[in-house]
Amino acid sequence: MNDQADRPVYMDHAATTFMKPEVLAAMAPYFSQYFGNPSSLYRFSGEPRKGVDAARRQVAAALGANPEEIYFCAGGSEADNWAIKGVALANRKRGDHIITSAIEHHAVLHTCEWLKRQGFLVTYLPVDEFGRVDPGSVEEAITDRTTLVSVMTANNEIGTIQPVAEIGRVAHDHGALFHTDAVQAVGAVPIDVDAMNIDLLSLSGHKFYGPKGTGALYVRRGTRLENLVHGGGQERGRRAGTENVPGIVGLGRAIELATADIEGHNRRIAAMRDRLIRGVLGSIPDARLNGHPTERLANNANFSFRYVEGESILLLLDAQGICASTGSACSSGSLEPSHVLLATGLSHEEAHGSLRLTLGDANTEDDVDYVLSVLPDVIGRLRRISPLTPPGAGVREVD
Ligand SMILES: *Cc1c(COP(=O)(O)O)cnc(C)c1O
Repeated sequence: MNDQADRPVYMDHAATTFMKPEVLAAMAPYFSQYFGNPSSLYRFSGEPRKGVDAARRQVAAALGANPEEIYFCAGGSEADNWAIKGVALANRKRGDHIITSAIEHHAVLHTCEWLKRQGFLVTYLPVDEFGRVDPGSVEEAITDRTTLVSVMTANNEIGTIQPVAEIGRVAHDHGALFHTDAVQAVGAVPIDVDAMNIDLLSLSGHKFYGPKGTGALYVRRGTRLENLVHGGGQERGRRAGTENVPGIVGLGRAIELATADIEGHNRRIAAMRDRLIRGVLGSIPDARLNGHPTERLANNANFSFRYVEGESILLLLDAQGICASTGSACSSGSLEPSHVLLATGLSHEEAHGSLRLTLGDANTEDDVDYVLSVLPDVIGRLRRISPLTPPGAGVREVD
């Protein structure tokens, strides 16, 4: 039907990225040649230990942090769990209140729900129509019982970038700690933990062309934090388990590459994204862009198409070789539309008809052209068979 179906267009980089060949090359020796346990004292542990130390310096450099403030773990979800449970439990005597936002990743939201069941108090801040948290709302919600404010740097669904420096300042003014889930932001938003008033920060290797199952938590020196994983004395006694040496080495190389030229990378990606957005809004009626018009990740385009269902869009796009994502996931067993889209004020119907396209390093202008050539027809076909479509609305007649 089309030659492009044999060369799929992958536009779901917010879900995961491919691993760069340089990253794989950096990791390779650590699977076999340098297999030793970095915590041992004999000669086999020397190279593994050096590899882990170098990666710690690479991660620290990318965040404006010190290497001794970096703790490796098994990904973004673990880092979020550790930061939030760790601060809440370690500071329980001082206070029992946590503030977060309504649009966090489930790794944050479900962790907060678990803490609620343990007796903690959680405030979920609302967002505006573009998905932004108002630092003034943190000021209103914060009390002398608040120990932690956790707001993500950039949203994984709609790409909205939060005013984290301002939010962090409000937290600090009231003696609370500030955690940010920066999983989507690393490599896209320049991070400086001091300038941005960040005490704890989560990141994940597979979101910036590194290996899956790798991540790190930045913890500002002197921060009171309970351990999450108990056992041996690895990671200076704070995170047990023999180090995933190849993964850590890959994470270090990946973050170095991802943060080497954020501005240049964003310029290239945003040019394609903007053409995609203009093309979609210009060719498909009853379509809207979700998220902030300017304060958004360079690679994120999130649309709502009225009268159609996100999963159907994905299936038809997949048949044409295009891989994307939606905020409604019937197949995952939940008929609930995206909590993020609902929080921005969208109706259930609009939230169900959403499509997320997230660009990445391998995408080309040809990919954008191809999506723009396929999508209007896909939406038109679905609207023609949708019982929600009012007569004559949202359908371009084809001849
Ligand atoms: C992907 C993602 C996570 C989870 O990271 P994993 O490494 O897959 O556990 C957490 N937060 C955000 C914002 C994400 O996009």
